[in-house]
Amino acid sequence: MQRFQFYNPRSVEDALNFLAEKGERSKIIAGGTDLIPGLRLEEIRPDFVLNIPEINPFRGIKEMDHSFWIGPTTTFTEMVESNLLSRSFPALVQSAASVGGPQIRNRGTIGGNIANASPAADVLPALLAHGGELELQSKRNGKRIIPLAEAILSPYKTCFRSDEILTGIILKKLELGTRSAFEKLGRRKAMARARMNLTLLLRLNHREEVSELRIVPGAVMPVAKRMDRTERMLLGKKPEPLLIEAASKTLAEEMVEVTGARWSTEYKIPVLKNIFKRMMKQLLIV
Ligand SMILES: Cc1cc2nc3c(=O)[nH]c(=O)nc-3n(C[C@H](O)[C@H](O)[C@H](O)COP(=O)(O)OP(=O)(O)OC[C@H]3O[C@@H](n4cnc5c(N)ncnc54)[C@H](O)[C@@H]3O)c2cc1C
Repeated sequence: MQRFQFYNPRSVEDALNFLAEKGERSKIIAGGTDLIPGLRLEEIRPDFVLNIPEINPFRGIKEMDHSFWIGPTTTFTEMVESNLLSRSFPALVQSAASVGGPQIRNRGTIGGNIANASPAADVLPALLAHGGELELQSKRNGKRIIPLAEAILSPYKTCFRSDEILTGIILKKLELGTRSAFEKLGRRKAMARARMNLTLLLRLNHREEVSELRIVPGAVMPVAKRMDRTERMLLGKKPEPLLIEAASKTLAEEMVEVTGARWSTEYKIPVLKNIFKRMMKQLLIV
């Protein structure tokens, strides 16, 4: 194992002061489930490691008037056990429940899943579907809030500055009647990283037409994103089986436009289409 200095900040201010001075040469550690393997393999070689799980204001889930706030060091287990999240964002909770095995869920955090920006992340695409926003803080610039959709620049690369900490994830409350679901296809059941996952959010109006639809496949593109063209195809229309069938084809085309044709495309197209159709059917029955 390489040599670095481990720093335990006593407060948010202490952590921000530390990064203001040494951010360029530091790595933040939360649960360590991504960082520690990276340190072991010497893929990263920081001089300092800033340990943030003991900072209390970074933990927990709070309900506000129009939104929810999730602390970055909230673990997947804490998300799964949260009644607030289960009631309001079932798909997000399903995504947290799908991560690794119990040990990884007990240590791994929502903030680490975002900041690591892996193309195979499970919770990150679910957050994108929910329109998540990120609260970032630094000593130099104070607080800034940015949409998650703008924060991931490329695989494993975010727009976070070296002196910044992700200090919160904000989710606006969804309109009444919004249904959501998450499904993951892994290599093995336990401890599997996603081969593909899909998050859907759907709302119908009083005429049973689609008034809101968000579709985010994960682990199939370098950076997860909403599938706007497929969403627009269904918006304002009744989700009849023929239209859903056509939308599933468009969804697969949209994915291939981003990824290009690869060896796995032949397998991914029918799988994505089928998961989408099955999840739409389930959401329409609810
Ligand atoms: C066996 C195994 C199975 C796994 N299975 C899955 C899976 O099924 N699905 C999945 O999505 N992931 C999986 N992972 C990956 C991992 O558990 C997640 O990405 C986890 O969310 C990372 O969180 P962490 O707290 O451990 O992050 P860490 O490892 O502590 O940090 C990860 C990165 O985020 C940065 N960071 C952390 N917190 C902050 C912050 N607040 N502000 C700024 N930067 C920060 C760190 O500097 C580092 O670059 C698996 C990992 C292992 C080892």
